[in-house]
Amino acid sequence: MGRSATMRASFYEGARTFKSGTAAVPVAGSDEALLRVRRVGICGTDLHIFQGHLDHRVPRGGVIGHETVAEVVEAPAASGFRAGDRVVVEPLKFCGTCRACKMGAFYLCYSLKVLGVDLPGGMREYWAVPTARLLRVPDSLSDDHAALIEPLSVATHDVRRADVKPGDAVLVFGGGPIGALIALVARQRGARVVVAEVNPFRLDMLKRFGLETVGPDKDVVSFANDWTGGDGVDVAFEVTGNPAVVRVMTDAVRVWGTVSIVAIHSEPMPVNLYQMFARELHMHGSRLYAREDWEEAIRLAGSGAVAVGPFVSRKIPLEALQDGMEQALGGGPVMKVLVDLTA
Ligand SMILES: [Zn+2]
Ligand SMILES: [Zn+2]
Repeated sequence: MGRSATMRASFYEGARTFKSGTAAVPVAGSDEALLRVRRVGICGTDLHIFQGHLDHRVPRGGVIGHETVAEVVEAPAASGFRAGDRVVVEPLKFCGTCRACKMGAFYLCYSLKVLGVDLPGGMREYWAVPTARLLRVPDSLSDDHAALIEPLSVATHDVRRADVKPGDAVLVFGGGPIGALIALVARQRGARVVVAEVNPFRLDMLKRFGLETVGPDKDVVSFANDWTGGDGVDVAFEVTGNPAVVRVMTDAVRVWGTVSIVAIHSEPMPVNLYQMFARELHMHGSRLYAREDWEEAIRLAGSGAVAVGPFVSRKIPLEALQDGMEQALGGGPVMKVLVDLTA
């Protein structure tokens, strides 16, 4: 095939340490395609890995990267994929036989493994991936924009699971990439949306999307209640991970309204359960995505119904991953940093 037997890759070597190096180009199994990776998005999960918070899941020498765009190098003929196809990878490995899988909740499999966390991911030039986990990228999307399909699939899942309806008043706590994408998907569904955020760079960006925002100068719960004539919002999404938000979120929701927990809370948090009881609220978790959420994300991004371009703040080469992580942790003027494997 004219490629060298080794490839560039980045390896996790423990907290705050990524090392670039080389590895053998993988050989695709009979149900796999060999991919040449083009872009990998860095997200909050990767920052947790970088800080050593997920050392119980990510092995030393592990390869991270679960927000990937790639080109097919070779694939089994029967798979329908051919050399040159651009694809995104649904980074999940599930058993297919446990209770969750039998219920159709493959993404919540009791023995779920996430590629790029528990299993090797895409932070390398070549990657062998089961063809069942690939989805085609439409020509209308550049590589940079296609790198947003994975986080957009999280957002389409969250909005679908919360059953956001046209005309609903939706409050999103947290305007990082996932919160902003949830807001855009909810608005695309016909909801009225407000995003609560404290970072001025992110507030500016949300405003440029034409989204209504609540900054740190205002009390979010009073704002939400005023905004809805005292009723409370139909749906609130918790996307901050902040205990202060968790404490008040149920106060902002109407009778029979919905609270959706999207952020990862690794510690138990105080919640105002009186409001849960008094208003008979629904609260549910929302994690990852099902296949239909990916298909919806590709439709929304591919048609331009949700503009993903503005999310790309910066591109770095693989060898700058360590620096990129340090900067992303600094919390500066950044939405999404992409690693460009073709650079
Ligand atoms: Zn992610
Ligand atoms: Zn399973």
